[in-house]
Amino acid sequence: MDRYEELLDRALSSLPEKTQKFERFELPQIEMFYQGNKTIIRNFDAIVQKVRRPAQLLSKYFSKELAVPASIDGNKLVLNGKISDRNLKEKLQTFVDMAVICKECRRPDTRISDVGSVKMLICEACGARSPLKI
Ligand SMILES: [Zn+2]
Repeated sequence: MDRYEELLDRALSSLPEKTQKFERFELPQIEMFYQGNKTIIRNFDAIVQKVRRPAQLLSKYFSKELAVPASIDGNKLVLNGKISDRNLKEKLQTFVDMAVICKECRRPDTRISDVGSVKMLICEACGARSPLKI
């Protein structure tokens, strides 16, 4: 075992047991560029596929969190403001943590279901349900 693995192992052993068995969900890379004062996410469709959530949900989330209007243009997302890629990445990470990763088992095998007027995040791996706050 090399040094890195040893450190990783020690870090993991301090977590509750059921969180250690699975690979971490890999955040999709954001490919973006600026056009005037707009920020364009070139691979929005690929991100949507990776997180397995409706494009509208992610678009609305970005718009709200970044406080700029957003519109879907083909496979791109257009944000009406200059957003740093670091900021975008952090927001995407937060989205994944809230709307994709199960709070209980940390797996990404979840879906969103409407229960009355509440959106629930339902885990298909462990059955956990939690209200979705986005
Ligand atoms: Zn779960």
